[in-house]
Amino acid sequence: MTDRYAVIGNPVEHSRSPQIHAAFARETGEDIEYARLLAPLDGFRSTVDAFRADRGRGLNVTVPFKAQAYRLATVHSERARAAEAVNTLRFDAGGTYGDNTDGTGLVRDIRDNLGFAIAGRRVLLLGAGGAARGVIAPLLAESPSSLTIANRTLDRARSLERHFGQRVRASAYEALSGTRFDIVVNATSASLAGTLPPLPAGVFAPDSLGYDMMYGKGLTPFLERARDEGAARVADGLGMLVEQAAESFFIWRGVRPKTAAVLAALRAQ
Ligand code: NDP
Repeated sequence: MTDRYAVIGNPVEHSRSPQIHAAFARETGEDIEYARLLAPLDGFRSTVDAFRADRGRGLNVTVPFKAQAYRLATVHSERARAAEAVNTLRFDAGGTYGDNTDGTGLVRDIRDNLGFAIAGRRVLLLGAGGAARGVIAPLLAESPSSLTIANRTLDRARSLERHFGQRVRASAYEALSGTRFDIVVNATSASLAGTLPPLPAGVFAPDSLGYDMMYGKGLTPFLERARDEGAARVADGLGMLVEQAAESFFIWRGVRPKTAAVLAALRAQ
């Protein structure tokens, strides 16, 4: 019997995860099915339970259920605990394992796919929502020289500063004026609305990377700003999406798929 997996969310019809996991399954020879699973906003747990009862072996979790998935899991990885959010569930005989692969996906895309070392670099993270929180521990594990978090609602950035300790510094946007960074990651949802976070001019160092977690929107206002300010490289979040999927696949199947061809095929579309 083929093991079943799915991405659960609301909305979920736009998700590219089925295409990515189908490609991973072909490449590794793993016999799996992977579908989209729309859960009612008030019916996350019952939808998960029904899926599990019907040969479901694991789920990717997307907006708005990552915090609920964290509460549903009975065993958590360290990175899920740091993020207090789960994007990967695996149903084991003894319980439900919850992990968060978003940060690993971001780090692998920046470090391995883009060839941009994070170690020793000044990193600026824009946003303090679920996506930002999920990537902080994996970014810190790469030993940047500093990690600054700017958010429109400063209190949310401050709460991340308290949670992650001295290696993280919270900042208001306007206070960034005059400071340069080597890597600037946009983890806000501003690009979804086609807008730019209120970033003062001059934060991109000459050899810097501008990275927008958003994908599928072309050159976002954030990436345009990075390019106009002389960032050496700009990238969207498609590589992060593929890399976080590969890590989920590994958690479920114990096999690590190759990502380059899948990423190239998605880019070509
Ligand atoms: P949340 O809703 O949890 O957080 C949104 C964040 O964006 C908050 O910090 C909010 O600030 C900030 N924000 C929203 N609008 C603006 C604006 N106009 N100016 C400045 N700040 C703004 O969203 P997520 O963290 O879940 O997702 C953020 C983005 O990351 C999305 O675009 C999502 O698609 C992308 N993403 C990409 C992934 C990938 O694999 N590539 C994986 C996960 C997410 P405030 O606190 O003040 O409201």
